[in-house]
Amino acid sequence: MSEYDYDLVVIGGGSGGVRAARMASSFGARVAIIEDRYWGGTCVNVGCVPKKLYYYASSFSEEFEDARGYGWQCGDISFDWQTLKSNRRVEISRLNGIYQNILDGADVELIDGHGTILDPHTVEVDGVRRLSSEHLLIVTGARPFIPEIPGIEHVISSDEVFDMESLPGTMVIVGGGYIALEFAGIFNGLGVETHLVYRRDVLLRHFDETVREVITEEVARKGVRLSLNNNVESIDKLADGRLSVSTSLGEEIIADAVLYATGRVPNFDKLGLENVDLALTDKGIVQVDEYYRSSVPSIYALGDIIHTQELTPVALAEGMVLARHLFGGGCEPMNYDYIPTAVFSQPNTASVGLTEQQARKKLRSYKVYESNFLHMKNTLSGNKSRTYMKLLVEEGSDKVVGIHMVGEHAGEIIQGLAVAMKAGVTKAILDSTIGIHPTAAEEFVTMREPRG
Ligand code: FAD
Ligand code: NDP
Repeated sequence: MSEYDYDLVVIGGGSGGVRAARMASSFGARVAIIEDRYWGGTCVNVGCVPKKLYYYASSFSEEFEDARGYGWQCGDISFDWQTLKSNRRVEISRLNGIYQNILDGADVELIDGHGTILDPHTVEVDGVRRLSSEHLLIVTGARPFIPEIPGIEHVISSDEVFDMESLPGTMVIVGGGYIALEFAGIFNGLGVETHLVYRRDVLLRHFDETVREVITEEVARKGVRLSLNNNVESIDKLADGRLSVSTSLGEEIIADAVLYATGRVPNFDKLGLENVDLALTDKGIVQVDEYYRSSVPSIYALGDIIHTQELTPVALAEGMVLARHLFGGGCEPMNYDYIPTAVFSQPNTASVGLTEQQARKKLRSYKVYESNFLHMKNTLSGNKSRTYMKLLVEEGSDKVVGIHMVGEHAGEIIQGLAVAMKAGVTKAILDSTIGIHPTAAEEFVTMREPRG
């Protein structure tokens, strides 16, 4: 009989924590999971899910517009923010319930409260209950980082944006990453005058260089007012409640709301890391080995608190690896090659594999195949939005090492191509694949001439 109450206590009931707890229990471990805010974590409550629902809501406006060229008379259209908010709340509550049921059904003990680590084998919940466990798993996720500038108390983050009391007439969004682009698309599509203020000249710093240029152009073409090489210096609240935003380029934008999307930092609040002297990296994330073991041998960590690739499917996969490693008879460490990703910008931006900047550094020689075209749907509609695709192919091996797209449904299309990349697809295999006609995706199997 173990000297501990549990085999695994998980702190954080989000993407990674729920998956690790459920899998560990299915292997026979005695598991408890602690959550202090909302079951399902960031993704379900203030991340992927509500964001995608709002993205769908916003994309109808362009559909209504495009439909005219196809003969539709759409009449008067209007949008009701309160309907979207309340329907979203109902859907998210349904998902919260599903998460709790899944854990209940998996025989995991659910504990509502805040977890604080007291020593390498003990967690305290809300200062009232102590749990001892052979292994502890920290999966406490991340929270928005907002820089200190005068008037910062007037801004909101992605945590608050879904529940704004009313739809702003004018909005300023600060940042040039995933969240900034996604919400710029959402609010622009919902009819809000949307200003995107970004400190560099091209959006999405970590993406392929051409993709960055194309998406920067496309976001502007959709109507988002881009303010590049610029940053917000201060924010003042005016007598009428609106916000006056002053920027480093000397602009003043009057807005109803200011959204900061300037990155995320690990959630270590009152977690008790100091009680166990847990090592962090120089980036401030938890230092772990390939099986997510921290510098304290009984404590593991995964998900957003261990790296900068903050994606739900990554946290889920890590949770599975850890559960198998500890309780399921062992497994190989996770393979981080070719993780696909999509920014649900409008249009979508999606990628898998190397960017051209990385290919230039890593490969002796490579070829680029690219295509920039008007999607067939945009012919009759008059919509000027372009679609861009790029393939990077290693010379010699003929291996496809990078696939990138900006355009409608890029996330859906790149997901399929990521499977091919995992399987080691070559350019010759893409060339011998028959296209589905007429689609945009067929372009990926019909690009014949490399860029000169
Ligand atoms: P989380 O899901 O954040 O879970 C951590 C949980 O721990 C939280 O529920 C928190 O309340 C709880 N917690 C924290 N401290 C304690 C404590 N001391 N005691 C008890 N509980 C605690 N990823 C995608 O792949 N696709 C997307 O489209 C996408 N969209 C996003 C949109 C937004 C606006 C945001 C913010 C993120 C988005 N992400 C997306 C990222 C994704 O949400 C995260 O990568 C994922 O949720 C990380 O999972 P996690 O388990 O590490 O942390
Ligand atoms: P990102 O890292 O993607 O972007 C942060 C942006 O803020 C960057 O453009 C950065 O500029 C800018 N920035 C940082 N600090 C400052 C500052 N002090 N002043 C002005 N600008 C600043 O983070 P997000 O917050 O957008 O998203 C967090 C993570 O969540 C993402 O990286 C992603 O992993 C995940 N996510 C995934 C989604 C998806 O899968 N679809 C959707 C949303 C989030 P610079 O470029 O110069 O560094």
